[in-house]
Amino acid sequence: MRALRLREWKSDPVLVDVPDPEPGPGQVVIRVGGAGACHSDLHLMHEFEGGQLPWGPPFTLGHENAGWVVALGDGVSALQVGQPVAVYGPWGCGRCARCRPGAENYCEDPANAPVPSGGGGLGLDGGMSEYMLVPDARLLIPLPDGLDPASAAPLTDAGLTPYHAIRRSWAKLPPGATAVVIGAGGLGHLAIQILKATTAATVIAVDTRTEALDLALKNGADLAIPSNDGTTASIRDATGEHGADVVLDFVGTDATLAMAAAAARTLGDVTIVGLGGGTLPLSFFSVPYEVSLQTTYWGTRPELVEVLNLGARGLLQPEIVQFPLEEAMEAYRQMQDGKLAGRAVIVP
Ligand code: NAD
Ligand code: ZN
Ligand code: ZN
Repeated sequence: MRALRLREWKSDPVLVDVPDPEPGPGQVVIRVGGAGACHSDLHLMHEFEGGQLPWGPPFTLGHENAGWVVALGDGVSALQVGQPVAVYGPWGCGRCARCRPGAENYCEDPANAPVPSGGGGLGLDGGMSEYMLVPDARLLIPLPDGLDPASAAPLTDAGLTPYHAIRRSWAKLPPGATAVVIGAGGLGHLAIQILKATTAATVIAVDTRTEALDLALKNGADLAIPSNDGTTASIRDATGEHGADVVLDFVGTDATLAMAAAAARTLGDVTIVGLGGGTLPLSFFSVPYEVSLQTTYWGTRPELVEVLNLGARGLLQPEIVQFPLEEAMEAYRQMQDGKLAGRAVIVP
């Protein structure tokens, strides 16, 4: 089969022929129906180098995947051939105190995971190929009726990651509260939909691109503000000078982190999701009183079930642009150049 592989750090991935995977005991092979192109893949191609992560190339890209079961290894009885499934992406040991309730994103025994702190498309072979090997049946969630694999694929990361980040701030988003989404791209446009579907907060989107601001409004944002020196003042103005109860930064540069801190309300939450490499100086007076500052990484398996249910009910509808596997690099180029609206999904 053909696969889009990252062969070394600081290089473009290439489309090559690789053997079809075979499931071992407890494993499952799926026919990929969609593999989302995440901005993290651009970070992997351009910014990382050996020794920074516990894994490295070569591996097949694609860490947000869904498809159909095609082959079951010995001992797998909970799934059936032909069944549509989403792949839960962070692959932990499955047995530690974090993995048991399904928070494999924070596995505490990575040495006993299929790959330490990674998954398919992150150290092991991912979904940008016709077939994908999933090392344990527990990592596959049957798709609820009404969801097809190409639309479900982005929900496993671009949906799950903001869902997890928003869920932990639900208590700070009663009616009357304001949430700010910085970066209305693949993750951010779904963050807006999740805020609208699960809270009554006013949602303000911030982006540098007009297309992204338009998409934000289409996805239910109450206000869309260009990202520039005046953004913080606009957010404070829109919130009666209080600031936003929850600020989610899907960019993570020095500039957006400073904006996030300055736009937050006392007692608010600032959550850093974007891997833009920026830093935020934290001191007594650098953020409003009692602001909680956190990073979040991906989400849990039970949360993925909730996200898929939101998708099946039509409350979460990823804006997708499909590309065949041969044009996967074109999808990444468009993302790099800021020409995509929503999420690119590779359909091999
Ligand atoms: P994307 O390219 O689809 O979207 C990024 C958006 O940010 C674009 O719309 C872009 O115009 C906008 N943007 C860029 N600079 C900006 C600025 N200064 N102000 C406002 N908006 C700006 O990317 P994505 O796939 O949604 O990923 C977003 C980030 O989240 C990436 O850094 C990615 O690596 C990271 N990520 C983190 C996790 C996690 O678990 N923490 C998971 C997935 C992705
Ligand atoms: Zn990702
Ligand atoms: Zn674990």
